[in-house]
Amino acid sequence: MESQKLTFEPDDRYNAFLTICKKAPYSNGKLSGIAVAVKDNISTKGIETTCASKILKGYIPPYDAHAVELLRKAGAAIVGKTNMDEFGMGTTTENSAFGPTLNPCDTGRVPGGSSGGSAAAVASNMVQMALGTDTGGSIRCPAAFCGIVGLKPTYGRVSRYGLIAYANSLEQIGPMGRTVNDVSALMQVIAGKDRHDSTTYDRPYTHTPVADVKELKIGIPEEYFGEGVDPKVAGVVKTAIGRLEELGATTVPCSIPSMKFALAAYYVTCTCEASSNLARFDGVRYGPAADTKKSWHEAYKEVRRAGFGTEVRRRIMLGTFALSSGYYGKYYAKAQVARENVKADFKRLFSEVDLIAGPTMPTIAFRLKEKSDPLSMYLSDILTVPANLAGIPAISVPCGKSDGMPVGLQIMGRPFEDECVIDAAFAYEQAVN
Ligand code: GLN
Repeated sequence: MESQKLTFEPDDRYNAFLTICKKAPYSNGKLSGIAVAVKDNISTKGIETTCASKILKGYIPPYDAHAVELLRKAGAAIVGKTNMDEFGMGTTTENSAFGPTLNPCDTGRVPGGSSGGSAAAVASNMVQMALGTDTGGSIRCPAAFCGIVGLKPTYGRVSRYGLIAYANSLEQIGPMGRTVNDVSALMQVIAGKDRHDSTTYDRPYTHTPVADVKELKIGIPEEYFGEGVDPKVAGVVKTAIGRLEELGATTVPCSIPSMKFALAAYYVTCTCEASSNLARFDGVRYGPAADTKKSWHEAYKEVRRAGFGTEVRRRIMLGTFALSSGYYGKYYAKAQVARENVKADFKRLFSEVDLIAGPTMPTIAFRLKEKSDPLSMYLSDILTVPANLAGIPAISVPCGKSDGMPVGLQIMGRPFEDECVIDAAFAYEQAVN
């Protein structure tokens, strides 16, 4: 089937790739011969897949993730695997075991994360499109920081089969590209029901973007322009929203009171799920073979201490603690209540408005090492995690610059209205370009 080969020998000065496929096979189809990069937590048959972790160095999956299989069927050339924060845990791509990725717009800054390699590969023109994954913002954040487009689809719209799980109730594979059309074209290929993932819905995406926001009501939550959001970034995004008004949209101020708890709910949920998902890296099922002469506990400890980076170990410990007997009710159960509140807030808002818009990130891309304190890094996810908690679609589209760096406009929509989110982003993009 894959008879032709694409030669791919980029000058990867940003460390965007962990693996490069110099002769990438491709076939005929909608994406025939188009170079697509795939984040390194998405399984690719015969191509090393590490999640940017030492513990998976040398692991070659025996099968393709469903999204990758669909890409191949559509004719795309999988040209390489992109750098990321280890297992998707981070907002800068500095948590990779294989060195940080640099932002092509300013190499003194991070590309965002955790899909920073995918964003840098697209932004620097090495590839036309890429797959990322978004658990709490990992597609939208790097899209915003690198000046490209990225969509987190509705939960259940794209199969997670073959995605190496970090926090499965929150994450989705999604498209990244330079234009809304590219993102839409990739979405056409990867969305739909998969019998290997019971959380998928039979909702294929067959849409072509239409630049129309007339008659649409857009909610502007005060929390997205409040404390912690750089006023210059807020200003750029407000101008962009003004543009949507000129195009015929109506905007109304609104509020998401549960955002007070969103970050806490997110970080408790994702660390709990991670502690369970990462238990399989034990030197028996996955990871370098454990020393069988040692006791099981000793061997397990050794493999995991050597294989996981600091942030991953921190999150496994946090999650294990929050799920432990006596604390479960205090943390995990509470986080689920808070998550329901976030969902309820969106449900209420979406009975009044069609879309919700604001900045993707509270600031421009950080300087390398600027967020060495993990808590300050977690705080920067505040504007992206609500969409994951609620399972709704959210896109980031470039909307100008602040201090010479790209700023992203985030547009969120009702569940399974990814088409509407894409149309609004397309209308904006067409109006400014
Ligand atoms: N920055 C968030 C985290 O570290 C989101 C990561 C992601 O979406 N994979 O969990």
